Amino acid sequence: MTDDLKETVYLDYAATTPVDPRVRDCMVMCLEQSEGFGNPASSTHVYGEQAAVVIRQAAIDVATLINASPDELVWTSGATESDNLAVLGAAHFKAMKGRHIVTVVTEHKAVLESCAQLEQEGFTVTYLRPDGTGLISAKDLAAALRPDTTLVSVMHANNETGVVQDIGAIGSVCRQHDVLLHVDAAQSIGKLPVDVIAQQIDLLSFNAHKACGPKGVGALYLNRERIRRIEPLLYGGGQQRGIRPGTLAVHQIAGMGEALRILGDEMEAEASRVSCLRDRLWQGIGQLPGVVLNGHPEQRLCSILNVSVAGVEGESLQFALDGLAVSSGSACNSSSGEPSYVLRSLGLSDQLAEASIRFSLGRFTTEADIDQAIKLFTRALAYLQALSCGASMKVNG
Ligand SMILES: *Cc1c(COP(=O)(O)O)cnc(C)c1O
Repeated sequence: MTDDLKETVYLDYAATTPVDPRVRDCMVMCLEQSEGFGNPASSTHVYGEQAAVVIRQAAIDVATLINASPDELVWTSGATESDNLAVLGAAHFKAMKGRHIVTVVTEHKAVLESCAQLEQEGFTVTYLRPDGTGLISAKDLAAALRPDTTLVSVMHANNETGVVQDIGAIGSVCRQHDVLLHVDAAQSIGKLPVDVIAQQIDLLSFNAHKACGPKGVGALYLNRERIRRIEPLLYGGGQQRGIRPGTLAVHQIAGMGEALRILGDEMEAEASRVSCLRDRLWQGIGQLPGVVLNGHPEQRLCSILNVSVAGVEGESLQFALDGLAVSSGSACNSSSGEPSYVLRSLGLSDQLAEASIRFSLGRFTTEADIDQAIKLFTRALAYLQALSCGASMKVNG
């Protein structure tokens, strides 16, 4: 391990999380030669049966957390695949009924790019715009629905701002109009209660690696009373009712099951601990000159604090925060070099959207990490503001 790694405070849990040691142990057991290496589809011998038992238990643990039944789950490679399968699969399956979809401009790219693909195929997509706090209203959604609308896709908690949509209200509008509701819950799973029955959700995408589980595994929940089938993205050996064929990744799925089982037990205590840490961070940096909070002040995740700094340059801010592993508005879409489309849609200027920092906390974040982050952030701002002050004095004089 390099010194940089040891000395850098990790506050980027919304990008990914460390794997909980209990999850790792559970996965290692599955990888051990003598234990669960079998193919769960091999029903003719004990190796396959053993693996099938592991899968079954994981399905129970995952389904319990969202109030679903274990056979309403399809295992995938992560939330990106789940989003694609849900949006493309449901839209294609319902294409005879209609070809109109409703979503929100602040969705994850996995949903937006799937919608863009549907537009290429001749579907029509309505993109709702949130208000300045990041929320959409059930009323606006109802107004956007048409007779040919088949699917609505709205994320639960936003990955940049942490803003939480009122999925219960959105779900009830969708039911009234007999339209399917897909929810991307990659950020909210394990931080907020998700209840597919109470919230009237038909399709739910989520993964393990945002919840102290392994990367490369996720699930899609399909409400069996509301949607019997969707069009698959892959074709193969008929596993998972043909909706997502391929040999199941037993160790990954076991890890996801264990990660979500832990959350079932610990979510409440963890959320309140993390939310205290986030408040401590905000108390430490919220008073600094030029700092503003992005997104709704209450209706948001316990684990994300997204701030912008007026008057400083995004890239300089990012460099000045050496020693802090966080995401920045200018880096979120680093490949495009564009400021965050999520922050822009809340009405932020390019400057504020670029000079934004997303702090995200989790299971292994300590008070010492937060105090260190406050110190580094305060020092970085003082440095940048002194610099820009000096620069303007030079220009003026
Ligand atoms: C991380 C994330 C995804 C993508 O999940 P992967 O498992 O990394 O593919 C999708 N949606 C949201 C909201 C996310 O935060």
